[in-house]
Amino acid sequence: MGGRILIADDTVTDRIALKARLATARHTVVQARHGEELASVMLSTPPDVVLMDIDFPGGGIAACRALKAHARLREVPVVLYGAADDTAARVAALEAGAEECLADLPGETLLLALLRNLIRRNAERSELMRRHALHGNDALAEAPTSFQARPRITLVPASAADGPSWRAGVEAAFPAKVTLATATTMLEAASASDAYVIAFAPGNPGTALGLVAELRARPATRHAIVLLHHPGPASDIAEMALDFGADGILRGPFSPDELAARLQRLLARKRETDRLRAQVEDQLDKALRDPLTGLFNRRYVDGYLARLSRERATGGNACALLLIDLDHFKSVNDRFGHLAGDDVLVETARRLRTTLREIDLLARIGGEEFLVILRGADAATARDTADRLRRAIGGRPVPVRSGGDEVSVTASVGVALCAGSHTNHRELFDQADRALYASKAAGRNRVTFASERSAA
Ligand code: GH3
Ligand code: MG
Ligand code: MG
Repeated sequence: MGGRILIADDTVTDRIALKARLATARHTVVQARHGEELASVMLSTPPDVVLMDIDFPGGGIAACRALKAHARLREVPVVLYGAADDTAARVAALEAGAEECLADLPGETLLLALLRNLIRRNAERSELMRRHALHGNDALAEAPTSFQARPRITLVPASAADGPSWRAGVEAAFPAKVTLATATTMLEAASASDAYVIAFAPGNPGTALGLVAELRARPATRHAIVLLHHPGPASDIAEMALDFGADGILRGPFSPDELAARLQRLLARKRETDRLRAQVEDQLDKALRDPLTGLFNRRYVDGYLARLSRERATGGNACALLLIDLDHFKSVNDRFGHLAGDDVLVETARRLRTTLREIDLLARIGGEEFLVILRGADAATARDTADRLRRAIGGRPVPVRSGGDEVSVTASVGVALCAGSHTNHRELFDQADRALYASKAAGRNRVTFASERSAA
């Protein structure tokens, strides 16, 4: 996947060198020699990444700060280079919003790894934004909260001896809850951290790479910030960490100020992405739930039954499908009003939920019709559960909002058992529906099994 890369540099030889290093990766390269060209390119077709000389005319750091202040351009990652071994310049560049600040013109390996990393991160974020917009939102629903809990940061220095100075340095530079860990204890921690800072151990760089891969593979830490520390100058193995999913590499002597500058930015971005992700998940969840009772809806049941059929085709366990329909519910609405009817539905859902086990599926599939799937249930269990559900509904009246009234309702139940592995889910549903009809025909407030329908 080639990206569009802007090289902002006034030195022709440096532009040529960078362009040559980008050639193998099929990136499209655009160039800017001074501020006017930079502005014109950025505003016409923004690139995927900006590579900029820290000595760009007018100052690379100032140009970076200006881009990051621009609402439409602030998402474009900026990599500054040419800062030499100047930690203060590096910190200033990061504070101005640069994603990365390198000592020299980057070599091919580092350059390409960095671009893959930055382009992938932005692609993930854009995908999240797209999904968010798909659900009818183009802005974040809630404003960011002003209160932010102190971030939890786990430090994994190369040797235990470095621990105290790392911790003291980070605590002085940044308000955080700091935990010291080793390569072994890091993965055993009970709760995940917001950020991990892992040092490459001299002579054993593979351990740090393995930890990055492990953090990215685990659901609890998949979205955590991961920074690596390499004591030496650029090295191929350190650069591999970017392809493993690290968010950046700190080079040279450990600098808490540089770490703090990187974390400020990465944490702000993480908070925003986490909120976006939570909203997308919430929207997905809402599409599959009934707003009145909070139970799963018909759409969810259809997908669930299709999955169940596939499982059963490969020899899944026994199960029972129950359809539960309130009796003469129309008359509840007629006598007490629609709002009272809603109260009865909500309370019915609650009683069903508390009677069932966590693993049983409960859904509202129609106005006053509920579906239950009991996993692993034989005929005796299904009969027992169906009757407990029927009694949970009809056993005592439901208080409703209109003037201290109480409403008594009963329910009829139809049950179908899936025994053979050939059972088709639609067929099962129809069997239960016919059994439910038989319950209604036989006087309501009762349970009928599909197999005993003809006897009923
Ligand atoms: P039966 O015993 O044969 O099932 O009779 P019934 O009255 O329960 O069945 P019918 O299908 O004739 O009527 C169902 C009623 O459920 C009609 C409709 O107004 C009501 N209903 C459906 N959805 C809702 C809802 O969300 N809230 C309320 N309050 N009533 C609803
Ligand atoms: Mg009914
Ligand atoms: Mg009905």
